[in-house]
Amino acid sequence: MKLAVLTSGGDSAGMNAVVRAVVKAGILKGCETWIVREGYEGLVRGNTDAETPSSPLLSTTLDVKINDPTFIQNLRFGDGALLRDGTGDHPSGRTLKGRYIVRVGWDDVRGWFAEGGTLIGTARSQAFRTPEGRLNAAYNLIKEGIDALVVCGGDGSLTGADIFRAEWPSLVQTLRSQDRITDEQVSRHGHLRIVGLVGSIDNDMSMTDLTIGAPTALHRICEAIDNIHSTATSHSRAFVLEVMGRHCGWLSLMGGISSGADFIFIPESPPKADPWEDAMCEIISKHREIGKRKTIVIVAEGAHDVNLKPIRAEYVKDVLTDRLGLDTRVTTLGHIQRGGRPCAWDRILPTLQGVNAVDALLEATPDSPSYMIGIQENRVRRVPLVEAVKMTKAVAEAIKVQDFEKAMSLRDPEFRE
Ligand code: ATP
Repeated sequence: MKLAVLTSGGDSAGMNAVVRAVVKAGILKGCETWIVREGYEGLVRGNTDAETPSSPLLSTTLDVKINDPTFIQNLRFGDGALLRDGTGDHPSGRTLKGRYIVRVGWDDVRGWFAEGGTLIGTARSQAFRTPEGRLNAAYNLIKEGIDALVVCGGDGSLTGADIFRAEWPSLVQTLRSQDRITDEQVSRHGHLRIVGLVGSIDNDMSMTDLTIGAPTALHRICEAIDNIHSTATSHSRAFVLEVMGRHCGWLSLMGGISSGADFIFIPESPPKADPWEDAMCEIISKHREIGKRKTIVIVAEGAHDVNLKPIRAEYVKDVLTDRLGLDTRVTTLGHIQRGGRPCAWDRILPTLQGVNAVDALLEATPDSPSYMIGIQENRVRRVPLVEAVKMTKAVAEAIKVQDFEKAMSLRDPEFRE
């Protein structure tokens, strides 16, 4: 099997660990391994330059299967230094310019565990949203002989993966009718094996308890609140923190619990009291009365009231200043939440899921569904990609029509108010 992995949508910690796990597991199971740079955009663009790397840049000390020549070739085949340099030239004279689909080996992904973001690049690709773009993407995969794809991204990326797989047979037929591929390629590529891994800091995907990158983002938020604590307590200040999460309040809720916040606003469960300003002020006043010297309020970026009017951090600050006379500051954590080294769990989870993804691809048949690899109740699980995408959309829809109970129960069937 020729296997490619790409990262798509917003970057998240742990994406490099996914690439590492998929490449290493793929090699150990006898696959040829490739990466696609810049997400779906790289698939659409493909390789304009016919050159593929032909000699190892790096040596390896790995001694398993040492007598298997195919294994050794797969192991050593690499452009890892080029990947680290992004699109730039390399002192060796080799370049990745014009090449988005690159064959990689064991050494290329060595040490990728601890790196933040995604070293193979990610993008939001308008072209892939169009049928012509997806036709080019199919052509570029077939041209390189790749027959299996791992996509790591958020719900949008996995929706794209689902559409791509459903369209695949007709894309292949169209390419044949345009004489861009041969009959032999049609018979070899009649079926695209595809697996999704959820890389998203928001933890906003249904049918998995945790997404790759969410634990690290939560750590960053905790650290930020800890840092704010000291100044808040010293000056007896209030801080309103805006945290990422357009449709999902997981980061805000967990960040609030782990830092003892006074009040938390999340999209799925807007404050029931009307007006909520009175309820918030009453609670915070009580906390102050019993001796709390600092106030922390967390606002998810997608928070709103029961009438779907957005609740903004600046407005919350004005309420606390005007009604309670608190010296209040707003801190927007922004991209600090995304960045930096993955925490341990964002190395373990992608590794377990990456290995499972390779197994799922090897076991795939034309009749089996495409899977999303998630984690449920502490076990790595495969769920049909199409179901997970459908359920995630249903949650967003329920929030839109203010059916918050349905949204919560879709996300967690055991949810009780
Ligand atoms: P994040 O959670 O960080 O926003 P995401 O994967 O949801 O990540 P999107 O921008 O929604 O991010 O999607 C990433 C890419 O996936 C898009 O730029 C597009 O190329 C592809 N994609 C998304 N939705 C579709 C779709 N309906 N059809 C085809 N491709 C899609």
